[in-house]
Amino acid sequence: MLSNIYKETEKNILKEDTLLVKLVAHGKPFEEYDKLFKDTNIRFTIIDYQGKVYFDSKQPNQEVMDNHSGRQEVLSAIYGNSGFAIRKSKTLGSYYAYYATKYKLSPEDKYIIRISEDYTEKMEQIKTVAWILSLFFIFLNFVSYFFYKNYLKRDLENKIKIMKGFLESGELERKIFYGREEKWLYEFWEILEEWQKNNLDNIAKLDFEKKILDLIISSVDAFIGLIDNNGNFVLKNNSLNHLLIIDSQKYTESFKYIEIITLIKNSITLKKDIRKEVYVNGIKEYFLISVKYIKKNDQFLVAIKDITSTRRTVEIQKNFISNVSHELKTPLTNIKGYLIALEDAPKEIRLRFLNIINNNVEKLENIVLDFLNISKIESSKILQVVPVEPKLIEDQIRESLFGIIKRKKAELNFNWNLLEINQGMINTDKEKLIMILKNLIENGIIYNTSDVPSIKVDITEEKSKYLFSVKDNGIGIPQDKLKKVFERFYRVDKARTSNMGGTGLGLAIVKELVEQFGGEIVIESSEHEGSNFRFYFLK
Ligand code: ADP
Repeated sequence: MLSNIYKETEKNILKEDTLLVKLVAHGKPFEEYDKLFKDTNIRFTIIDYQGKVYFDSKQPNQEVMDNHSGRQEVLSAIYGNSGFAIRKSKTLGSYYAYYATKYKLSPEDKYIIRISEDYTEKMEQIKTVAWILSLFFIFLNFVSYFFYKNYLKRDLENKIKIMKGFLESGELERKIFYGREEKWLYEFWEILEEWQKNNLDNIAKLDFEKKILDLIISSVDAFIGLIDNNGNFVLKNNSLNHLLIIDSQKYTESFKYIEIITLIKNSITLKKDIRKEVYVNGIKEYFLISVKYIKKNDQFLVAIKDITSTRRTVEIQKNFISNVSHELKTPLTNIKGYLIALEDAPKEIRLRFLNIINNNVEKLENIVLDFLNISKIESSKILQVVPVEPKLIEDQIRESLFGIIKRKKAELNFNWNLLEINQGMINTDKEKLIMILKNLIENGIIYNTSDVPSIKVDITEEKSKYLFSVKDNGIGIPQDKLKKVFERFYRVDKARTSNMGGTGLGLAIVKELVEQFGGEIVIESSEHEGSNFRFYFLK
């Protein structure tokens, strides 16, 4: 640009010089030109259209000058009106500016007049100015860089810092006004606020879901744990703590029992789902262990459920059925045998046989009744508690035990100590209480060799419970059998008691019922002296 301005100025100067030369030289022969222009610095050349130089104001010997028809400015002047060029002069060796135009002396005498001027100094000037300008712009560049660095950049950094703080703080909104002139920043801030809001919503949702998940995981009564591929627990709940050493992260160190570790290890090594029942010998318990391989995260979900009680129930059921069959078989075999024998038996022993058959039928009846009671108790665990008159309970028990009381000449006494607020009534499930008392009293009379079997029943009402005691003067129970008598089909002296019509189910029924009342039962007993069955009901 700078060089163009210089060129344009130079062109105009040369143009004016041309006019001046034309004006002075017009009408004069070439020979006079030297004299005419001897005092000027203007260098001009007269060239014909073939390029031959006729006159040069600075070169007296035109013969040495080569043909100028190839010069750019001369060509432009011949074919146009004028021509301008700057180049290194072959003749003089330095930079020159040339301006050429037509020079008509007459219609036949047509020449080109060319003015030239040393341009070297101007070229130098242009270079110097260009240098100065470059330096100026470099300087400006530095200034703007420092301005950017120290002001704009800091300003932007501050704004970004505010945004960062806002995002990190978890605030919902922050009143910052970025003027409308900073439109992009204003819009960006709006997007940021919206984004923050959505983010916080999502965080709250995730938090809530996590809490629910934690709650679910911690409330299931099975152990749940997630193990990563290094064998470390990523997460676990607190169930079945007795299987774990709490503070260890590695599952191999966490679990106390080798049976569990081995199973999990199998699944982890094979990267395979496993579901298996495991018996842990150390604690004599059964567990259902399931290990699931989660391929996506390369993790293993372990769930351990204690199935000991289910396993035991199944075993109890199995035992129960085999016991039932066994219990039924004995009286049935007896009945069958005596019925066959009856056919050929002489008249005098027939009655004895019939008696035996009758006893066995009674035994069968007792067993069946006890079974019915057990299944009734197990199926309806709901108590129907109503105020009951004690006398009603007493009368019903006496009535149902009338036969045995009479036969064994037994004494039965009730002693009721009830609080006055209930007007002498006891709040209870009548049928179930009668079943308990009847069983205990009957046992007290049966397992009794005293001349006068005596049964004392005490009922004491307290603020929150009823206390019962059924005391007899019977044969007593050996200390080591006190717990066993509550098991189904257990009899202290099997041979003797089965002859007494016992099924071994009575105390099992009593215990189950007492527990339904929220209570507990204990026995105090001494052999040959008697037993005391004490229990309580929660009100
Ligand atoms: P059973 O039908 O044989 O009476 P129970 O469950 O009522 O069955 O009693 C279990 C066993 O406990 C009885 O066989 C008997 O040996 C013993 N037993 C129960 N009550 C008494 C008692 N009051 N005195 C002595 N032994 C008792």
